[in-house]
Amino acid sequence: MAHGWRAGTLILLVLAAFVASPAQARQGTTITVVSSEASPTFPDQITFTLSATSSAADIRQVQLLYGATRNNALTIVDLPVTAGPAVALSYRLDTQVNYYPPGTEITYRWVIHDAAGNTLERGPQRVVYHDQRFNWSEWTTRNVTVYWYEGGNAFGGELTAAVDQALTKLQAELGAELAKPVRIYIYATLDDMRSALQSNSAEWIGGEDRPDLGIIVAAIAANNNAEAQRIIPHELSHQVLHQAIENPYGGTPLWFDEGLAVHNQAGRDKGFDELITQAAQENRLIPLDALASNFPADPNQARLSYAQSRDMVEHIIDTYGDAKLQALVSAFAAATPADEAVRQVLGRSIDDLDAEWRKEQSKPSGPAPNLAGPQEAPADRFSDPPVLPVGSPPPTSVPNSPSMPLDDQPPAFVRWLEGLPAWATLSAAAVCCTSGVLILGTVLLVGLRLIGVDKRV
Ligand SMILES: [Zn+2]
Repeated sequence: MAHGWRAGTLILLVLAAFVASPAQARQGTTITVVSSEASPTFPDQITFTLSATSSAADIRQVQLLYGATRNNALTIVDLPVTAGPAVALSYRLDTQVNYYPPGTEITYRWVIHDAAGNTLERGPQRVVYHDQRFNWSEWTTRNVTVYWYEGGNAFGGELTAAVDQALTKLQAELGAELAKPVRIYIYATLDDMRSALQSNSAEWIGGEDRPDLGIIVAAIAANNNAEAQRIIPHELSHQVLHQAIENPYGGTPLWFDEGLAVHNQAGRDKGFDELITQAAQENRLIPLDALASNFPADPNQARLSYAQSRDMVEHIIDTYGDAKLQALVSAFAAATPADEAVRQVLGRSIDDLDAEWRKEQSKPSGPAPNLAGPQEAPADRFSDPPVLPVGSPPPTSVPNSPSMPLDDQPPAFVRWLEGLPAWATLSAAAVCCTSGVLILGTVLLVGLRLIGVDKRV
């Protein structure tokens, strides 16, 4: 729901990009751009202004094309023009409606036509939609720029150290570096951060990670180094993996993306091991196959999903090694479906991999072997209720787990903040949901090209 407009917008953007194909523009020297600029005022607007003249004939049509640089698609706007030899125009892009996270680089162009049939295309020009409301400090290391405004140099040093350590670990694990830049905005309070998110964002959303734009937005209180050690490696893991996979047809199962991200956190989430042990005892482990594209909206189940995903990735690393992990990434990058990728690289099906991991869960950490979880993943966790061994207690919800507003809550877009030890990991759902929508949009984009949708006739 919250994302429907994005997919629709992408299609429009694609069409706009076709319409505005530079190949169609006839270049003329009679038109001159006197000035052209974009003035961002985060989080409300970006104002584009143009002043242009023509020596041959009246200027009578001006188009502005703009979009996030990384998206490779531009929206086209026909600006009202009072025909004349000189024009001065401005266009206010309402970024409360057309949201961009802080740090998004915007590309824009002008296409100017005069009455004599001359056309001038000016651009591309670029502007970074920075959040200028705070007095940011910044530090760049290895293609990542971190912005923060509280905590001084000491906290900045901790943040950049977290970036460095995460990138080193990810390089060793995945054999991949960030080829494209990433900007990380660290807000000191939740309120500050929420003021930078889309205005209709739900209260419980705790951040935004946009691997497609190279942007991470998070709230970490000054000098909360433990939180920095948890959030930054997690979100950078998503960014590195996304860049490594980048392929409109490719993608990873959600359990792989989130499992890798949670695994890379320098601070381990409290309670995850216990969640898995308890779920295994109560036959409530979620089949791996069911964690491929969405995590459950229920917060208890969502936490269990993260815990299982982390465990599965660590099982792959421990049992098969980093080389196989990298081979899986390569297979996903080649758009190999998950089950086929796992068969190719690990020599077994997803269900067998799941069963192999489940066997480990039933290893004796205590007695009561009759409480072990099922060895085969049921085909559908919703239609196949867990079968409890005789004498085992009935399933119960996880104690001390958070409650959260579930109304109107998109699945797998969960982030619980206050009072939840693992809140950083729950933000992950937001990442993947957003990425998924964008990947879907990209697939649509490519699909439209393939089937020949093109407004040029
Ligand atoms: Zn995540």
